[in-house]
Amino acid sequence: MIAVFGSANMDLVAYVSKAPNMGETVNGHRFRTVPGGKGANQAIAAARAGGEVAFLGAVGDDGFGAEMRSTLAEAGVDVRGLRQVPGPSGIAHIVVDDDGANSIIVVPGANGTITGPSGEDLAAIAGSSALLLQLELPMAAVVAAAQAGNVAGVPVFLTPAPAQPLPAELLEAVTTLVPNEHEAAAITGVKGADGALEALLELVEEAVITLGSDGALYGSRTGERLRVPAVKVDAVDTTAAGDTFVGALAVARAERMSVAEALHFASTAAALSVQREGASTSMPARREIEDALS
Ligand code: ADP
Repeated sequence: MIAVFGSANMDLVAYVSKAPNMGETVNGHRFRTVPGGKGANQAIAAARAGGEVAFLGAVGDDGFGAEMRSTLAEAGVDVRGLRQVPGPSGIAHIVVDDDGANSIIVVPGANGTITGPSGEDLAAIAGSSALLLQLELPMAAVVAAAQAGNVAGVPVFLTPAPAQPLPAELLEAVTTLVPNEHEAAAITGVKGADGALEALLELVEEAVITLGSDGALYGSRTGERLRVPAVKVDAVDTTAAGDTFVGALAVARAERMSVAEALHFASTAAALSVQREGASTSMPARREIEDALS
């Protein structure tokens, strides 16, 4: 079982010709709500990629929380560890203009109430074959979960987003760090993926830097280095490409595919997701990934 300890947000997306300035009101031409949050996205990606997945997190006692719970459950994610807390669910308020540029306000809501893994969370983490973490929960909670995974000998994957300083005790507990190019540069201060990879391997055992349409770069302290080309596709929406990549990567590694096969599986899943709109709505099912691989 793959445990995902992380955020669930409702994305509230308004499409406008031009984003309003402060004090200004504009008409939008479309609005939609999309279940998201990096934690929920990774859980759905892993479940759709064929993993047995448990999501550990919190939603509020509003309608958004109920919708997120049912979206996760419908994707096949075990939601027994998804707590309901009084107050609002986390939301991301997103404005997208006609050029595709966006501005985003995240209000953590229920996610911000998580101070650490509960007793049930710790049991789920200890019994898992991989733990997936991101940085949309309070840092102390992420650190405690990573340490619990590490103590239990569970591989700990960290997506270091949104980018922020990473405490040493977190890095010590992480097995595989999966930043995108910008996050890798922010963590290491090194521009250029090859140099950043070497700097990351000073911090963690294994790292994968995702490079958008340029694929991904993998390295481990054992000396292995792999460049994974992206699958050539017409991208329509790259939202959550990284989350799809990590979810699929964890599934493949839990199934004991070789590192090269697992990276290929992950980049194939991510390439399928960028050809469709949305986050959780765009993640491919196992059958689609296998069809695309053959
Ligand atoms: P994030 O979404 O976290 O910023 P990236 O943009 O690096 O992450 O994308 C993650 C992975 O998704 C890439 O390593 C690649 O495999 C795949 N991907 C992203 N954009 C494209 C694209 N335009 N075409 C094909 N694959 C893509």
